[in-house]
Amino acid sequence: MTTPIKVPNMSGVDSFTPDPKFITESDFGESVPTGNHAEIIITGGGFSGVCLGGLLRRRGHRDFLIIDRNDDWGGCWLDNKYPGVACDVPSHLYSLSFELNPDWSHAYGRGAEICEYLKAAAHNEDLDEHYRPSTAMEEATWDPDNNLWHIQTPQGEYTCHFLITGSGHLVDPKIPDIPGIDGFPGTILHSARWDTSFDLTGKRVAVVGTGASSIQVTPAVAPMADQLVVFQRTPAYVMPRIDPAYTEIEKKTYRRHPDEIQRERDDHFWQAEALYGAMRLIPAMQEHVKKLTLNHLESLVEDPKTRELLTPKYTPGCKRILVSNDYFKAFNRDNVTLEPSALTSVEGSTVVSANGERYEVDAIILCTGFTVSQPIYAAHVHNGKGETLADVWGKGGAPTHTLAQRGFPNLFTVNARNTGLGHNSSVHIIESQAAAVVQALDYCHDTGRTVMEPTAEADKAWNDWLREWSRNTVWTSDGGCSAWYVDDRSGQLTAIWPDYAYDFRAQNGHFDPAWFDMA
Ligand SMILES: Cc1cc2nc3c(=O)[nH]c(=O)nc-3n(C[C@H](O)[C@H](O)[C@H](O)COP(=O)(O)OP(=O)(O)OC[C@H]3O[C@@H](n4cnc5c(N)ncnc54)[C@H](O)[C@@H]3O)c2cc1C
Repeated sequence: MTTPIKVPNMSGVDSFTPDPKFITESDFGESVPTGNHAEIIITGGGFSGVCLGGLLRRRGHRDFLIIDRNDDWGGCWLDNKYPGVACDVPSHLYSLSFELNPDWSHAYGRGAEICEYLKAAAHNEDLDEHYRPSTAMEEATWDPDNNLWHIQTPQGEYTCHFLITGSGHLVDPKIPDIPGIDGFPGTILHSARWDTSFDLTGKRVAVVGTGASSIQVTPAVAPMADQLVVFQRTPAYVMPRIDPAYTEIEKKTYRRHPDEIQRERDDHFWQAEALYGAMRLIPAMQEHVKKLTLNHLESLVEDPKTRELLTPKYTPGCKRILVSNDYFKAFNRDNVTLEPSALTSVEGSTVVSANGERYEVDAIILCTGFTVSQPIYAAHVHNGKGETLADVWGKGGAPTHTLAQRGFPNLFTVNARNTGLGHNSSVHIIESQAAAVVQALDYCHDTGRTVMEPTAEADKAWNDWLREWSRNTVWTSDGGCSAWYVDDRSGQLTAIWPDYAYDFRAQNGHFDPAWFDMA
């Protein structure tokens, strides 16, 4: 059972950057909305929504709602139910600093328990009364005459003064346009839209893709499938996964001494930070990653030819570096085939590779990722002047300090552009932004400001810096692979934060009134 430890108000947003602003709770005289209007509306009940809601309540705010198209808390951890789903950042780090969990089953939490953790954290933070399930933001439009956001949902119109998107960037599955796939007579599953009632036992299965979901699905499905073929366009660098189950005595220790959890968080955080050197193309770090991953491959795959096919030839980090102990081992099985080319067409129940190989299958598992750089919600957020967020982002615009987009008043964008990490925990990013947003809202409250939007100068300075700093990283150099980190409309790096996670918090984890025009 997941029972997080609610860290008292406010021991900090992590020990390495304590934030004195959060030590006190104010009485804003607000009450929890009962209708369709709130001072603040947050979209998304994943880590972003729970973190924002938790910090808002801890500061004393009550006039906010969290709407989600899903019917429960958990965000992507509710959506992803595929066999083997787990995180790839150690769970004591991949959790909220103010909702520590002594009960993680393993070093890397499993998907279902992360989802349970988020539900328990939302409950602990008294967020259930703020939550509106099955309430998708279909359109949101800024109304400058009344300083209101109008949000269309299946439950009717909602309005708010401040809109915070916490809608995630790994939420809308990318379905590849493969000729003939519509006529496939078997079952098609996407990793993020899993049909848990479908039994893969004894089936002939094709897995498409070799990214983060595939390396978890493949070893989980291989033992139950009759035959399994993995379509690999690009092999992955895979690191060992040190993933012991926590013993009862360890959990008891964590419960009695939450400082031990904090110590683990700090250790994991700084170890992960070291990996960023590889993303900056520092030769020693590149060599370190290559040695670690290629030795891992060598030690696990028996057949030299398969090993060679699984060996990446591009610069490490160009695609996400993965962690697994059982992915490579799956290729030692007699019933698993590595097809070293893309799936290019489907003819009835035959899947055909770019190399011309043909396989008869009963099920296709798409591990083809998400529409990351072109999030669907962005096309539905209108600034009242004929522009959507998607228009601005498609031209390469980025929210100032990742927090707010010029041209879109009273809008905050949490875990949206340039917030993904290739080397550390997203929760660190989300907490940093949530802290800044709450400070901004406090500032408005304290000074009586009702409208805010990044200044032209702050917007330009930020975008100039971001583009310059993104240069000479593994994602923007010719690393020999193409990844989803770049928006192909603008050619800009938009999915990833191009620096250390620590520096993200230093730059974006606070609010500076000088960045905003306010009225
Ligand atoms: C399988 C998987 C494994 C991952 N593993 C890791 C990991 O190990 N480490 C790591 O750092 N990161 C990992 N991530 C990245 C993950 O996206 C973040 O860690 C984090 O969970 C994001 O939280 P979020 O609340 O911002 O977004 P999400 O969890 O994606 O939640 C977004 C919510 O917004 C809702 N939503 C979307 N659009 C709308 C709309 N229009 N109206 C209303 N609601 C809407 C969705 O229903 C969803 O509930 C993983 C992601 C996936 C999919």
